[in-house]
Amino acid sequence: MSTNAILDGKRVAQEMRADTALLVKELVARGITPGLAVVLVGEDPASQVYVGSKTAAAREAGIRETTLRFQADLPEADLLATLDRLNADPEVDAVLVQLPLPKHLNAARVLERIDPAKDVDGFHPLNVGRLVQGKSTLAPCTPAGVMELLRREGIDPKGMRAVIVGRSDIVGKPMASLLLHAHATVTIAHSRTRDLPAVCREADLLVAAMGKPGFVTGEFVKEGAVVIDVGINRIDRKEDMERFFPGNAARAAAFAKNGSTLVGDCDPATAYPKASRYTPVPGGVGPLTIAQLLANTVMLCRARRGA
Ligand code: NDP
Repeated sequence: MSTNAILDGKRVAQEMRADTALLVKELVARGITPGLAVVLVGEDPASQVYVGSKTAAAREAGIRETTLRFQADLPEADLLATLDRLNADPEVDAVLVQLPLPKHLNAARVLERIDPAKDVDGFHPLNVGRLVQGKSTLAPCTPAGVMELLRREGIDPKGMRAVIVGRSDIVGKPMASLLLHAHATVTIAHSRTRDLPAVCREADLLVAAMGKPGFVTGEFVKEGAVVIDVGINRIDRKEDMERFFPGNAARAAAFAKNGSTLVGDCDPATAYPKASRYTPVPGGVGPLTIAQLLANTVMLCRARRGA
């Protein structure tokens, strides 16, 4: 019988942030203030919100944060020159370029320009390679945050069958590397996977990272599996809200007020009830990503300054 308990990412993220704030305090006492530079190009509303949350959290932890905002038509050469400047700035320990970038900018070229020693998201090919080889301490924030949640909640992936739905460079692939290094048996599924529900039902640990609201239904979940719902999707159709949150008065009220609500890639009505533990949306993986960004910033600061 499933115990069906929430994996409270929000609470774990608060603990992580408190730990980071303590480390920052110790560094500051030794005359070192970790510095995070965030680069935002264009006016994508979701990116603005994400950057706002990240920078507020950084400031709260005592990290020196600078946000550089540029118009959407910024020439690539100017962006690369900005990164060169941040790479050379001794006060900047960590550089983050908020994705997605406007279409005319080559994201791969831009991410490669960040000094690997300041690459707080871990997207530089050198750091990706180190991660795959298991030689890295720093990993992309979302999957690293998930690993920290599992660790702090006493869930050891060793020997588990893990299925990750989604093979992006940001979530799916690094998640697979981290779980593999933690001795899980890892399958990565994607849009061409045949009989996805059957593949997912093999999972003791199911990670949904596909960007499809409520796609993973109860049919995908083995009774008692641990479910990590990475997806963050905004839904604004009443019938979707009623399907995903039947009888949930609080959600209905919030939906009526805001005209929309958030749902993960798992169907809360059918997938979560089969899980032994699951991350809700919101309040699951999202807060962990931000907490891990702060932890990564401090990690880079200490490594770079030998502190
Ligand atoms: P991408 O769009 O980059 O990747 C989506 C992946 O899902 C692709 O590999 C794609 O397969 C796969 N996929 C899409 N549709 C299906 C399907 N029907 N069946 C099987 N696989 C499918 O997304 P991201 O990895 O960037 O993000 C995934 C989700 O996680 C999004 O909802 C995003 O908002 C959320 N997210 C949340 C974060 C957080 O902090 N909680 C941080 C980052 C992302 P294929 O490769 O074959 O196209």
